[in-house]
Amino acid sequence: MAENNNSELLGLSFQDLTEMMEAHAQPGYRARQLFQGLYRERKPSLDDFTTLPLALRQQLSMAGWSVGLPVIQKRFTSTDGTVRYLMQFRDGQTVETVWMPEGDGGEEGDGSESSYERATICVSSQVGCAVDCHFCMTALLGLLRNLTAGEIVGQILAVLSDQRVDIDQQRINLVFMGQGEPFLNFDNFVRSVDLLVEGVGIPESRMTVSTSGIVPRIADFAKLKLRPKLAISLNASNDASRRELMPITKKWTLEKLMAAAREFPLRPRERLTFEYVLLGGVNDSDENAREVVQLLKGLRAKVNLIAWNPGPEIPYSTPDPARVEAFQQILMRAGIPAFIRKPRGRDIFAACGQLKRTTELVSIG
Ligand code: SAH
Ligand code: SF4
Repeated sequence: MAENNNSELLGLSFQDLTEMMEAHAQPGYRARQLFQGLYRERKPSLDDFTTLPLALRQQLSMAGWSVGLPVIQKRFTSTDGTVRYLMQFRDGQTVETVWMPEGDGGEEGDGSESSYERATICVSSQVGCAVDCHFCMTALLGLLRNLTAGEIVGQILAVLSDQRVDIDQQRINLVFMGQGEPFLNFDNFVRSVDLLVEGVGIPESRMTVSTSGIVPRIADFAKLKLRPKLAISLNASNDASRRELMPITKKWTLEKLMAAAREFPLRPRERLTFEYVLLGGVNDSDENAREVVQLLKGLRAKVNLIAWNPGPEIPYSTPDPARVEAFQQILMRAGIPAFIRKPRGRDIFAACGQLKRTTELVSIG
């Protein structure tokens, strides 16, 4: 049986549930009923598992088991339809999960599934983050703790239920781009992907995980059977600049990171994504763009440009739209697909790098 803090059912695999039902001398199909009820039907409490005998539900409950969904403590709705959820776990810790109707800017859309309603959920993998990127609000929290696999999946289930999503009718994309560095909580992240694919029914091809560049985990990730797409937060065009902005570069140099990217085994038609946060006057010059072109030469990659989203206490500025476009043009002319990510929910602090358990909406001018 896997580690299971606080006796929460969410996080248990089909195998775990099978062993549990065997221990309770239950027939084999009970594990399937539990697995389906938890992940596919999103039942919020043991009382809702009406296909299980009452005696079994009572036994489980007496043994301290509960479903373990996070509680939606707050909801902030942006003028653009984005919703930022503040989710609370049993120990009182909170993280944020973001619902973005119609995807995250739409660049992935090929129009072939236009009958589907589309949305993207941005999920957190840790409470806070230990990677001290200087432009990111989450970094100000430090790392408070890892999330369990059940807590990662639970965020998604809570949002799907709140938005009344029918997983068979709506196209849901997932991005592991909320609070935290997923590759520093690797085992729980991997476990959550398995549960999301096998239990919830979201294919791994609709998931993207973003890493700040934990080099050894990139190779581990490449070997997974159920592997989401990979995005790498590049954010600088040379090692010196990246060390300034992302101190983790001292440990995993840009050279090592790019070597890992080059060795990464892509599937047919798959591309690596590089994210590049543009900081006004810091990493957004034509020269920086040309350096990015050199770095990415020969890679099957695309670049998502993100104009920096402001946050209090962070001393950067957002470049002009014209600068962002000029940067994009240099990449495009060199044959690198480059997209400008539309900021989502900036007014409610839901955009990239703004997740910091902000419970009050302060004006950012
Ligand atoms: N920790 C992971 C995933 C979460 S951050 C990572 O860093 O990749 C998701 C993206 O938001 C990263 O590409 C990060 O570089 C970017 N980001 C961080 N702070 C930002 C800000 N203030 N404005 C815009 N993007 C930001
Ligand atoms: Fe952590 Fe990502 Fe923010 Fe860096 S950008 S501090 S890795 S959440």
